[in-house]
Amino acid sequence: MRRVRASRHSLTGGRPKAGGYLSSYAVSKKTTPRQKANNTINLNNFCREHWSIKLQGFKEKSCAGGLFVARFGDMITTVLLDWSGTLADDLAPVLEATNLVLNDLGVASLSRDEFRAKFRLPFEGFWKELTPQASMDQLEEAYHRHFVPIQHRVRLLPGAREFLEECTSHGLRTVLLSSIHPLHFERQSAGLGVREFFAEVCTGVRDKAQFLREWLQRREIEPQEAVFIGDMVHDIEAGRAAGVLTCTVLGGFDTDEKLLAAKPDFIVPSIAGAARVLRLVFAVNRLPVATVGALVRNADGRWLLVRTKKWSGTWGIPGGKIEPGERAEAALERELFEETGLRLRNIEFVMVQDAIRPVEFHRPAHFLLLNYTAVSDSSLVVLNDEAEEYVWVLPEQALRMRLNQPTARLIEHVLSRNE
Ligand SMILES: [Mg+2]
Repeated sequence: MRRVRASRHSLTGGRPKAGGYLSSYAVSKKTTPRQKANNTINLNNFCREHWSIKLQGFKEKSCAGGLFVARFGDMITTVLLDWSGTLADDLAPVLEATNLVLNDLGVASLSRDEFRAKFRLPFEGFWKELTPQASMDQLEEAYHRHFVPIQHRVRLLPGAREFLEECTSHGLRTVLLSSIHPLHFERQSAGLGVREFFAEVCTGVRDKAQFLREWLQRREIEPQEAVFIGDMVHDIEAGRAAGVLTCTVLGGFDTDEKLLAAKPDFIVPSIAGAARVLRLVFAVNRLPVATVGALVRNADGRWLLVRTKKWSGTWGIPGGKIEPGERAEAALERELFEETGLRLRNIEFVMVQDAIRPVEFHRPAHFLLLNYTAVSDSSLVVLNDEAEEYVWVLPEQALRMRLNQPTARLIEHVLSRNE
């Protein structure tokens, strides 16, 4: 059976390849001659300086705050957040409890800088290096015993509450992803009054990379819809392995040098800076997406309808997004061939529809739907992975099917025109 290439950005559910479409970006940083000579980067300046952004040659702009938009056109629906060092200012009590555990085992205390240089996730590696003689169960019990009496000292980092409020106001799915002990998180988040901001809480996660990949699959969330914000190299690596955007806040548990070397998509000085990332990503996301679709008629006078998961299992017409630089009709011919294997003739423009947050679509979206009619000499449909099934129906049967709203409007219009 003939297989056709899956569309990269299709209305009916194209899946951009990991690291693929529009993921390439060029960032140039203006360094001073002295910085160049020292071959070092002052990270305070690093985040305040202006970055030049180039998106596939289509758009270039500068902005302050250390932001670079990596994948133009992605629709972010899900914000995954680390807790310690990202939202919570807990480095001091964590270091104190850690040192008490080390002292119990006859190991010298770590300074704040030594801790930030040595600590890493998954934390088994850190403990094994310093206390090879102790079991993880023993260490966890000791840590819990020392940390609980001092965890009331944990505070929110400046801007954390405002960031969570902003996520809520955008209707984003806000999810906690942290290695923190579940009881510690419940206690801290309740005490700080932020528990209700999270749609889902994933605590006690040792290996975030593996967890995140599986979680996205379980929740049927495309990696391109999510951003993971954290303060450690492990957060960056986990996000990248899962294909989500990665945003790093500085000043947490990992040193700036380690974080910079790990090359996240965004670097911001703090969680307050992450709000800026969100706004700028949303500024991009707010643009409506132009799409094409066709009501295709075969030689028997029947119309082709396809049923897709992305449109909540309703029936609709095949089609997809117009690519940058592509003419609308060319996009229609390409999308229809990719999704159905059909070649079109007699293509006629019918109408344009504003689809603003269409109720059946699986996530908030704004499409500008360019609707056409066309004829196919062949009735042999070869679906790619975007549609579940197809049917050729007589026009009078079509309106009795469970259609999505834009398709129902198109069919009613075409039928009224033919009367
Ligand atoms: Mg952290």
